[in-house]
Amino acid sequence: MRVFTARACLTHAPGAGHPDQPSRLAAVHAALQSHRGVELIEAPGAPIEPLLRCHERSYLDRVAAMSAVGGGELGPDTTINAHSWTATLAATGAALAALNHALAGAGHAFAAIRPPGHHALPDRAMGFCIVNHVAVLAEAARHRGFERILIVDWDVHHGNGTQAMVERESRTHFVSMHQWPWYPGSGSADERGVGNCFNLPMAAGLPPQAYVESLWRGIDRATTGWQPDVILVSAGYDGMQGDPLGGFTLEPEHYAAWIGRLRERFAATPIVALMEGGYAPLRLAAGVVATVDALS
Ligand SMILES: [Zn+2]
Repeated sequence: MRVFTARACLTHAPGAGHPDQPSRLAAVHAALQSHRGVELIEAPGAPIEPLLRCHERSYLDRVAAMSAVGGGELGPDTTINAHSWTATLAATGAALAALNHALAGAGHAFAAIRPPGHHALPDRAMGFCIVNHVAVLAEAARHRGFERILIVDWDVHHGNGTQAMVERESRTHFVSMHQWPWYPGSGSADERGVGNCFNLPMAAGLPPQAYVESLWRGIDRATTGWQPDVILVSAGYDGMQGDPLGGFTLEPEHYAAWIGRLRERFAATPIVALMEGGYAPLRLAAGVVATVDALS
């Protein structure tokens, strides 16, 4: 089983006290390195072209320029340093390498990356996210002739950036389950896009099976009479019991169960999962390992 990553993702450091510390990814690397059957692949950084299908050039130029002078505040909760632009391109590059692997029929793939992406908007950073990796992957897949794309976002926060980028694209079906009410405030069930968005707002503190079944019902609705050509998972692990930024109660086996059901239901469809949130490093690592095992 191949997991795509890049050491440069460790160099983005938003400062002491920020939840998105390099130690998150370091814990994931450590867990995967000692895990049987996993091959960690160092991927090259992304070129700019695939990012331009989702983001405005002026915004990307601004991130690069700010990083080049040592960093600064991209948004209220998104601070960058001198390495953040390189780290962001490295993260998208690893995600694209995972996509290429899966689309070539070489097996499902996982991208272990940071910073996360699903809050990033076309023209601005938000919620620790700079570039929206999953939206970039959806466009890259379409560019290669994979028309129908299912995006499953199980991060505890609503994938508002992803929704903003796909809500007028009927060939992409977007399913997001998230804590409600909670950051970023969007993601109510009546936000339907052009009928292609399936939001599942959920209360905190429910038994895990309530979340497991809700997401599955959402996937069921999103795929009734419609078969995806590729499945992209915004795999956040801040829905795990004990995460400092979420109130869900999920355990590693629940992520594995979703992957198992996706594989069973869409047997011939490539799955690419990429890391989003998850702010208790060892819990995050356990969630990633369970997901990778289920994909392999
Ligand atoms: Zn999150």
